[in-house]
Amino acid sequence: TKWDSMEVLHESKNLPIYPHKAKLQRAVKDNSFLVVTGETGSGKTTQLPQYLHQAGFWRDGKIGVTQPRRVAAITVAQRVSEEMHCSLGREVGYQVRFDDCTSEDTVVKYMTDGCLLREILTDPVLSQYSVIILDEVHERSLNTDILLGLLKQTVSSTDEACKGRSLPLKVVVMSATLETDKLSVFLGGCPVFTIPGRSFPVICRFGCAIGEKDTESTVYVKEVVKMALDVHTGEPAGDILVFLTGQSEIEKACDILYEKAESIDYRYDVQDGKVEGLLILPLYGSMPTDQQKQIFQPPPPGIRKCVVATNIAATSLTINGIKYIVDSGFVKQLNHNSRVSMDILEVVPISKSEAQQRAGRAGRTSPGKCFRIYNQEFWEKCMPDYTVPEIQRTSLTSVILTLKCLGVHDVIRFPYLDRPEERFIMEALKQLYQCDAIDRRGKVTALGELMVEFPLPPGLTRALLQAASLGCEDLLLPVAAMLSVENIFIRPGHPEKQKEADKKHRLLAEQAGGCNDFTILLSVFEKCKASDHPSAWCKNHFIHWRALKSAFSVETQLREILVRLQKKRDFPMEKFDGNKSELFRRCLCTGYFTNVARRSVGKVFCTMDGHGSMVHIHPSSTLFDQEAQLDWVIFHDVLVTSRVYLRTVCPIRYDWVKDLLPKLHEVDVYELSSVARQ
Ligand code: ADP
Ligand code: MG
Repeated sequence: TKWDSMEVLHESKNLPIYPHKAKLQRAVKDNSFLVVTGETGSGKTTQLPQYLHQAGFWRDGKIGVTQPRRVAAITVAQRVSEEMHCSLGREVGYQVRFDDCTSEDTVVKYMTDGCLLREILTDPVLSQYSVIILDEVHERSLNTDILLGLLKQTVSSTDEACKGRSLPLKVVVMSATLETDKLSVFLGGCPVFTIPGRSFPVICRFGCAIGEKDTESTVYVKEVVKMALDVHTGEPAGDILVFLTGQSEIEKACDILYEKAESIDYRYDVQDGKVEGLLILPLYGSMPTDQQKQIFQPPPPGIRKCVVATNIAATSLTINGIKYIVDSGFVKQLNHNSRVSMDILEVVPISKSEAQQRAGRAGRTSPGKCFRIYNQEFWEKCMPDYTVPEIQRTSLTSVILTLKCLGVHDVIRFPYLDRPEERFIMEALKQLYQCDAIDRRGKVTALGELMVEFPLPPGLTRALLQAASLGCEDLLLPVAAMLSVENIFIRPGHPEKQKEADKKHRLLAEQAGGCNDFTILLSVFEKCKASDHPSAWCKNHFIHWRALKSAFSVETQLREILVRLQKKRDFPMEKFDGNKSELFRRCLCTGYFTNVARRSVGKVFCTMDGHGSMVHIHPSSTLFDQEAQLDWVIFHDVLVTSRVYLRTVCPIRYDWVKDLLPKLHEVDVYELSSVARQ
């Protein structure tokens, strides 16, 4: 309504960035690179793109804004489309993996950094854009770091940059705090524009419960809930923001909170008489966007809002009205695990700088308080000073293939803001060689050029392309789609219900010809798709319907990519005579032979990747408790606790990988980088 939009307008004029509008517009016009910094919530993400739009940049090309997180890209685009009075997907749009909400009219485009990286593959000079804003650079996501290096190269090399562009590209780099000098130096000494912030003092208090060893989610979830309730019953009005690790922990915490909040007697318990209720709202990545909108709305009078969020609320999204922070001290982080040569999502203590950032969210509009559930010893002994950039702790396989396809052969001397360890680069090269994406001299193969087109992990892409060359992509496309969405299976907490769910899931796998964790994905996909009432079917089979809907859409998109590639070049076609189940598993082997394990004794398996790690099958696998009948298996991912557990497992025959396994050891990694070292 009209009134709403006037309020939006009024609000945006109150933001700290507003007085600097003209100067910012000028600074972008005058410089190729510009670093913009300012407190979280000062209006960088939502306002600067609009200022550049008003300054007319859109006439020369789109204004592109990258975000490390997909939810942030979507939510912010939604907000900005409201502020600009257009419907989302028209002038203002967003693009994230498997979800493109843009049109020919789109001139302000929010996207994930991964999407921009893919766009560079087809259009290296980004001829569609007049300005690129790299946002949240302080997060140091892998893709943003790579984009920084690429844009530095594109914009600084004058002759290259002119090809396909009429005007030079402008690059704005935005960062909440931290390292702006380093960024400026990296970008050739470009100017730094600081938006003066206002922030209020935040009193931080340590708890006593959490010590060094308490990474069990049951412990910190319970503690966080207790603390949030203490704040609610003991502190004057003001909203609460709770930082937790991920969706399941957040849902668990919210469930307990709902229950406990019911029984609060507001006549006596709550200090400030004005608070008479608690509104509990979860906030995490894969949440439906209509639910996310509620987060930003002020609560009804007399009600206290309590948002239970992942790290997304630390800098990417700003919620107004927060006065209290409850900090769990943990974060879910992707780390490379050298024991299994894979990236693993694990719960780790946050860094001290992260903890300060979290606390700061309470002091945006007035003084606030931050309640930490961990003690001072935990702070000193377990929390590092700074978070290690993603580029130094995760697998580089995909980005190195992207770089190679962009013609960056010397991946060692690429301008990294922070250099990854050479052994990580070597490991990526080795993996690319193993799945035939590069040859012995480090050159991208024809197959590698096909692989880079898929927004999937290389092993999975390799299996998919193998299936395509055998004419059985219909078996692998659904599996690839299902592996790309989160939370397919409902795991009821109740033991009886869980048994029923397990039984149904196993039956589905058997019906698909061979009980394993890959066929179950195929089976669920096909059965649900064929059903007349897919949502009811899902409910009946303990499947999340929303996840399945995304999987359908992802499958369509993957199929489109494949069809496009098949039109563009000849696919080598091979013949295969054997049964469907064998064909399916053999295709998987082509991509997953790097993840192969053999049973040694009892329930213990041993990996074949040279580490020879002892591993177990995870209880959630359909193959759990059937180990005795297994010999060789491949797996998609692992869970590491005190033991290593294999998840998404499939039995195979040694014959199928016999010829592939030597590849794991034959290659001298330094040979692969020979091009780089010349
Ligand atoms: P920065 O990028 O500097 O951290 P933002 O541009 O994200 O700042 O936020 C500026 C203001 O816009 C904040 O007060 C924030 O609460 C508000 N805001 C951002 N997104 C939304 C939204 N979806 N709904 C309501 N308010 C929002
Ligand atoms: Mg921002």
